[in-house]
Amino acid sequence: MLKAIYMPRGRAREYASLALNLYNGCAHGCRYCYARGIMRRTYEDFTTNVAPRDDIIRKLHRDCELLEKDADHTPPILLCFTTDPYQPIERDAELTREAIQTIKGHGLRFQVLTKSGVLCRRDFPLYRSGDLFAVTLTHLSAEQQRLVEPGADSPIQRIKALRIAHEHGIQTWASLEPVLDPATALELIRLTRGFVDEYRIGTFNQGRHPVSTIDWQQFARDAIALLLQLNKPFYIKRDLQNYLPTDERIELSHIMRAIRHKRQERRERKRP
Ligand code: SF4
Repeated sequence: MLKAIYMPRGRAREYASLALNLYNGCAHGCRYCYARGIMRRTYEDFTTNVAPRDDIIRKLHRDCELLEKDADHTPPILLCFTTDPYQPIERDAELTREAIQTIKGHGLRFQVLTKSGVLCRRDFPLYRSGDLFAVTLTHLSAEQQRLVEPGADSPIQRIKALRIAHEHGIQTWASLEPVLDPATALELIRLTRGFVDEYRIGTFNQGRHPVSTIDWQQFARDAIALLLQLNKPFYIKRDLQNYLPTDERIELSHIMRAIRHKRQERRERKRP
């Protein structure tokens, strides 16, 4: 039985079938944070009392020993869902770096999902074929971003990290969730299309959206049309899919199946 790596449930499962959380708490302090609610912690406590999870690297080693027997069929392990792998504590603790080295030491794959744009670059040399780097994109304006995600890196730094990862030959994806403003989300896709390999798009992942007038159906249609026009692989999360009428949902599921199929084929071709 796994002790550190786990199978996410619900909406998180749409992003990854295996995940690993290295820290308790997160100093990025996003106002919409879903993790804080899951942990039943106050904003103050969650953002200031950040610490490595108990014995996490030893547990990870043990989990990796179990998973390495079927490494080829083990999906990439996502770092992290209920914390950010590249928040300030990581600069000295280097837990994420150690976790990546452990995962790679056992022949397994990983994917990072972060709101960091600077510290995350330190570990780009550790990526190998099959590993992925992802950033959450929410804003274009740094001023607005600081109000909502006060401890995270600016939009420009996150976008730069995606570009640098791509230049290192790392597979990249961008998470557009939460979508705070549909027009901004579409603009972020246009801006990053040259170096983001795949987009995953949702709505709002915690509580009530601050803007009640958003036409989610129109946003879903606009995002799908744009991504098809740009010929970019994508995944539309179920909460956004649900705004579409049945016939469009069926068509979308065919498109996304074809994307999955192509991805699988590419991976098979790369296997030694
Ligand atoms: S980066 Fe993620 S875990 Fe950290 S505060 Fe923001 S939403 Fe929560």
